[in-house]
Amino acid sequence: MRKGTHIYCNCCGKEMMQKNGMLTEDIYHIKKDWGYFSEKDGFSQEADVCEKCLSDWMDTFRYPPDSWERTEL
Ligand SMILES: [Zn+2]
Repeated sequence: MRKGTHIYCNCCGKEMMQKNGMLTEDIYHIKKDWGYFSEKDGFSQEADVCEKCLSDWMDTFRYPPDSWERTEL
């Protein structure tokens, strides 16, 4: 969630650390334009979730997300 130049985790409310306008920690940005086969057809949603909140959420998944190490950065 962005307020002016500040960025907050939508889940826990933590303000993300920045230095000289650059984030110094990574954040998961969600943007979804809901479509015809949803109950939110025509609506868009956007949120920022910090790494800890995302990890805590993924830990509740029945099947964990696929993960791999990228060899080319
Ligand atoms: Zn959080």
